[in-house]
Amino acid sequence: MRTNEPFALWTWGFKVFCTFVCVKKSPSQRHRQHKSPEWFSLPKMSQNLPKGMGKTVAGLAVAVAAVACAGAVVIVSRRIRERGQRAKCLAILDEFRNLCATPVSRLRQIVDAMVVEMHAGLATEGGSRLKMLPSFVDVLPTGDEKGLYYALDLGGTNFRVLRVQLGGKEGRVIKQEYEEVSIPHKLMAASGQELFEFIAKELAHFVNREGDGFRPHGNQKRELGFTFSFPVNQTSINSGTLVQWTKGFTCDGVPGKNVVQFLEEAMEKVGLKMRVTALVNDTVGTLAGGRYWNEDVMVAIILGTGTNACYVERADTINKWNGLLPKSGTMVINTEWGNFWSSHLPKTYADEGLDADSVNPGEQGFEKLVSGMYMGDIVRRVLLKMAQEAEIFGKPIPPKLMQPYTLSTPHMSKMHGDETRDLRNVAKVLKDAFNITNTSLTVRKIVYMICDVVCERGGRLAGAGIVGILKKIGRDGTGTGSGSWGQGKNISCKPRRTVVAMDGGLYEHYAKFREYLQAAATELLGEEVSKNVVIELSKDGSGIGAALLAASHSPSPTRNTVDSTIA
Ligand code: ADP
Ligand code: MG
Repeated sequence: MRTNEPFALWTWGFKVFCTFVCVKKSPSQRHRQHKSPEWFSLPKMSQNLPKGMGKTVAGLAVAVAAVACAGAVVIVSRRIRERGQRAKCLAILDEFRNLCATPVSRLRQIVDAMVVEMHAGLATEGGSRLKMLPSFVDVLPTGDEKGLYYALDLGGTNFRVLRVQLGGKEGRVIKQEYEEVSIPHKLMAASGQELFEFIAKELAHFVNREGDGFRPHGNQKRELGFTFSFPVNQTSINSGTLVQWTKGFTCDGVPGKNVVQFLEEAMEKVGLKMRVTALVNDTVGTLAGGRYWNEDVMVAIILGTGTNACYVERADTINKWNGLLPKSGTMVINTEWGNFWSSHLPKTYADEGLDADSVNPGEQGFEKLVSGMYMGDIVRRVLLKMAQEAEIFGKPIPPKLMQPYTLSTPHMSKMHGDETRDLRNVAKVLKDAFNITNTSLTVRKIVYMICDVVCERGGRLAGAGIVGILKKIGRDGTGTGSGSWGQGKNISCKPRRTVVAMDGGLYEHYAKFREYLQAAATELLGEEVSKNVVIELSKDGSGIGAALLAASHSPSPTRNTVDSTIA
């Protein structure tokens, strides 16, 4: 074992030295020594050496002993250096943990900052970093929808195409099918036309494979709900301009333009006959999908590659809204909370570096702390600091550790979920992601702890964000929100159940993230109130939600004309 190396060398050196001493001893002394451990028997051999050889052997023994001792000194000093490096790593970890701390007092400040920013964003255009975009969705699905609808969900690393046959209250979802297509990396930086043509072609292939059990209702044209999960300034239920790309997309020519037009032109080019009936954000789609099954759904959150939130707002509180107030009196607001910022948010050197190197410096601050696209890279940046300042992985610094995004959030969650005694999953990920091998258990423990710190911060901040929205609509138990649904207006009412529909690979697959999020929400709301707040995974709800919104906003005769208030 490595820890015995210097001792073994000392011992060996000492043995050689004793051998030399024994050569010089009297026969009687030598006799006594024969009862000693085996390694003292060496002198016997030297008795038969020719004259003069004794001195040579003695000299050799002294030399060997000296080398052994020197070796021991080297190892001991290496051990001391390693200890120093480990102490440095632990100091870096400690400092990072302190910078990331999210005690409940800080979370409360973040909740309040979120509420303030939500008000400001609703008051005036550009009034806050929170864009608080009206979605034009003032009717949510009720269950009465009928017919065949398509959905296209674009918003991250993959896009999904989906068709669904709706059978009204009785039949509900009669049949649905979907396919997932990954977006070639180079298309994320290609022109807008190239990106949308690729999507239209894949959609056309999918439509061509429409099988039995799918049929339009009467003369209904094929209609599409388009989930486009980037910040959009909605101009109607089926048009909207892209504010800016996020999540690594940089396609030319699209910001400032109507994205539905891009899609429709591409569909025409590939000969696909389909009408876009609803343009929605994935959060709005998730809200609609959740509401279809559960009328207590008031908020929807996405925690995947990126993060966002939407909720049902009282239309008369949207001061910046210039149009007629919707009949329902309510409107779904897309907060675009990925861009939320507050000085209370814990930010570190790793976050600053990540932001500076990103395609959108200064933007999406909350998303960069919380979402799947970034958390893995934050871990990598802390490891890189440890490699540079404390040689945690020895010399030279492993080249892959210096490359951004070599450590993904799924990598991070695999390490963080490692329950083996020797943290062998951590070792495996370090090998897979960075080609780092031969790590000690101490190093693996440090890596694990960094994952824990980044995950805890992200999960707790997301939990605080949710409580911020609940507070804004009066469902946080304090009775202070602006919503007509809180206890503030009617204190004698029993608290209403509120369901938060949640979607996204980060929340779905990262168990510890989910636990930290839930724990923070419960801490902030208190045990009693949190019993009435349920976070429900609504897997792929945004796809079917977009199809449902295409149905509830369809101009065809199947349109749901029920005046369904959505509160
Ligand atoms: P998108 O957000 O791209 O629409 P998803 O909702 O499926 O897609 O989320 C995918 C993201 O979720 C990935 O980019 C990754 O960041 C995160 N993710 C997926 N699997 C895991 C996992 N096992 N652990 C942690 N994060 C994960
Ligand atoms: Mg998604």
